Amino acid sequence: MTNNAWQLTGDHGKRPDGYEEVIIYSKTNRVSCMGEHMDHPKVYYTIPDGGEVVCGYCDIKFRMKEEDE
Ligand SMILES: [Zn+2]
Repeated sequence: MTNNAWQLTGDHGKRPDGYEEVIIYSKTNRVSCMGEHMDHPKVYYTIPDGGEVVCGYCDIKFRMKEEDE
């Protein structure tokens, strides 16, 4: 008899209060960021293949917009 004691608690991407994830999708792998309200100097990032880059100033995430058909 198997005692399956795993408790699946709902943690599907749940974040602590006050943290709002901002993701911007780009068609190119070159992105620039000045913050949501232009509140930091303009910086450029390159999105790695199949990945994402996080702005070091404001934590906005940039991902490539996938256009699979
Ligand atoms: Zn930023």
